[in-house]
Amino acid sequence: MPEENAANKLFLPRKNGDLFIIAGPCSAESEKQVIETAEQISECKKVKVFRAGIWKPRTSPGTFEGIGEPAFEWLRKVKKETGLLTTTEAATPEHIEICLKNRDALDIIWIGARTTANPFSVQALADALKEVDIPVLIKNPLNPDIKLWAGAIERFQKAGIKNIGVIHRGFYPFENINLRNLPKWELAIEIKSLFPDIPLINDPSHIAGKREYIKNIAQKALDLNFDGLMIETHINPDVALSDAQQQLTPSDLNTLLKNLKFRKSTSNDTEFTDILEQYRDQIDSIDFQLIELLNKRMKITEDIGKYKLKNNVSIFQLKRWLDISKTRQDFGKTLGIDNQFIKRILQLVHRESIRLQSNIMNKNKKN
Ligand code: PEP
Ligand code: MN
Repeated sequence: MPEENAANKLFLPRKNGDLFIIAGPCSAESEKQVIETAEQISECKKVKVFRAGIWKPRTSPGTFEGIGEPAFEWLRKVKKETGLLTTTEAATPEHIEICLKNRDALDIIWIGARTTANPFSVQALADALKEVDIPVLIKNPLNPDIKLWAGAIERFQKAGIKNIGVIHRGFYPFENINLRNLPKWELAIEIKSLFPDIPLINDPSHIAGKREYIKNIAQKALDLNFDGLMIETHINPDVALSDAQQQLTPSDLNTLLKNLKFRKSTSNDTEFTDILEQYRDQIDSIDFQLIELLNKRMKITEDIGKYKLKNNVSIFQLKRWLDISKTRQDFGKTLGIDNQFIKRILQLVHRESIRLQSNIMNKNKKN
């Protein structure tokens, strides 16, 4: 049996709320900053891995783009002096080569959001890592495209990387919001559903953009049963050379981790499982009824489609649609259901009705 390295063990499914916590500065800036940050972080026993970007993807040239290879000497010291594992971002095959040359100083490689968005880059990195035994964490791509994220995982799997984790760091927002990136939690849930054995880590720092938002995002991740967190932490965040507004001090990190409510991923208590089972039976029955009702509604929609066709009337009827949307939202309100939720469901149903009626009209056109 090949000897498992320490990082591999940490990728085993978590027990008793034992989360995989990564913390450290956005960038490795100086030996003093790296070592002091790591020393203080290591006092917080929950943290297992020290992160620091050695090469930094910056929007504009001329800003701090990382120290490069000399920073591995600092990571080597971090490992020796604190016992923390280490991770950095690699974005090109040359970065991988340097990482592997410094393998004794590095336990895990992470792939950044900009890289995951580009299949050429992902493939080049996967090729550079072929059959290498090093864990790889893959951040979600900047754009909310689940296939790109899944594709990156598959490329590394095909290259023989056995130890893969994913990091949910949010998606480019396209409009002004409070947060730096849109969380789109549903995509994190989807990637976990596609790859149930791959640990899912949340990066609240890059979603938040500002330190005051980090706690709520991290708590939400724990509530959704994420396997870990990656939190940017800097000895003196205000003077950080990158992402200054979103980094926490080690002492704030400690407070945050102490105050988070760690949920159990499940419970073996029989009373709990019995009651949960009863609730789930009810939900199952309701879901099947909903599907039967939707089917009934779609059948009527098709009859209407045929009727419109016969009378040469257009599919989309604005007045009727506005009326449906309003009356259902008003009714939902009387029951205390969020009207945006009703609106979204109706939009989906209406879209499907239009699709079915278009099929009827188009089929007729061909004949
Ligand atoms: C980072 O972790 O510092 C980073 C650059 O992240 P992302 O790729 O998520 O933007
Ligand atoms: Mn950063």
